[in-house]
Amino acid sequence: MERCTSIPQAMREALPILATLNGHGHEAVFVGGCVRDTVMGLALKDVDIATSATPEQVVALFAYCIPTGLQHGTVTVIQDGTGYEVTTYRKESVYEKHRRPESVAFISELKEDLLRRDLTINAMALHLSGDYYDPYGGMSDIQSKLVRCVGDAEARFQEDALRMLRALRFASQFSFRIVYRTWRALLKHRELLRYVAMERVQAELDKMLGGPAPHYAAGLLTGSGLLAYTLEPLPAARALLAESAKKKRIKLDYLTELDGVDIRYAALMTRPSVTLQEAKATLQALRMSGSRTGVIMAIVSLHHEMVVNRSPNEEKLRTSWVEAILRYGRAAAASWLHIAEANGREHAFWADLPQMKLWLSQMEISSLKELAINGNQLAAYWERKPGAWMGETLKQLLLLVALGELANSQEQLLKQVDRWKEETNES
Ligand code: ATP
Ligand code: MG
Repeated sequence: MERCTSIPQAMREALPILATLNGHGHEAVFVGGCVRDTVMGLALKDVDIATSATPEQVVALFAYCIPTGLQHGTVTVIQDGTGYEVTTYRKESVYEKHRRPESVAFISELKEDLLRRDLTINAMALHLSGDYYDPYGGMSDIQSKLVRCVGDAEARFQEDALRMLRALRFASQFSFRIVYRTWRALLKHRELLRYVAMERVQAELDKMLGGPAPHYAAGLLTGSGLLAYTLEPLPAARALLAESAKKKRIKLDYLTELDGVDIRYAALMTRPSVTLQEAKATLQALRMSGSRTGVIMAIVSLHHEMVVNRSPNEEKLRTSWVEAILRYGRAAAASWLHIAEANGREHAFWADLPQMKLWLSQMEISSLKELAINGNQLAAYWERKPGAWMGETLKQLLLLVALGELANSQEQLLKQVDRWKEETNES
């Protein structure tokens, strides 16, 4: 049996829980992601414990605990201010709607508890002594960099369709291959993905695209065609799927150069095959939060505006670029440039990028609040009733300043206002 020579600090802090349970005649072990990450030498996210003790026995042994999910056998035990999920060994009954077990039964065998877990790499346990328990070959799959279902892959995906997305997610997070039988089962049962809530789809996609190998994630998603089977359609995913089918493969390695998951979503959604409406509908279907939708759609909208206004005339290009920056903000513009640069020669604006970058950096101001006059000052000076004209005029002034055609001083701005005033009076 393999031994863990140095138990990570995050687990050592939870050892008193294991010791207490052991001391009262119960088995207790670390399980799941924390064991996998220990074997792989990765930082731990959360430390989960499994035990042969019933939830009632767990509650009776610890002064500070929260009965988080008693019917599922989970009690959160607080140790030195940190909460640890302690879950009774269990097996799952018939699954409802390819997602959740109808009921769970508490059992006394660790081996059977590990059997209900999704992947071999997630089905290992670690004892207080440092001994690993690995009945399904998780250790050797980690060594060979393989994602494999515990037991019969077809049955596992039929029980819980979320496991298909998890399989792709872990493969892409760790750059593991998916073994043939698991992959084949996924292709066979991919239409069951419609039983998975869209929120869960989003959570898994975030981890895939935000991980170290977003291009591999995209390859797994297009290769499996899985995203064509979500409960609500994801039009952008379908467009990318069609694009990759047409071109055999799309090269998305440049996604790794982009920092952050949202800019990577934006990079995918500004590919030529995806329309603005498809991008919007996809984020909506994924239940993306308002603020994230704002960030992503600013980049996507700016992109489409640039595509529509594309001009070989440098002055026109500059004007539409500056207008787009004012509309969607500097941050969106900078992200768009990042995406375009990472995309390289293939990008429609490749040749214009150095120029556009320079223009962005030369923009003295990019928002109304940076303008040297405000609405009240403008109305007082013009001696006109406040109204919609104010916002329009301020925007015009902002554009002239941003284009470098007017200095951002009250004097110069008001001089410009004088010129417009005259024009208005003449007409
Ligand atoms: P992460 O690093 O994302 O937290 P994790 O492996 O810890 O990865 P969790 O969702 O926290 O994932 O689940 C903890 C453990 O529970 C998993 O390691 C796995 O053993 C089991 N598990 C989670 N989801 C499923 C599922 N849908 N089917 C079977 N087992 C699952
Ligand atoms: Mg976890």
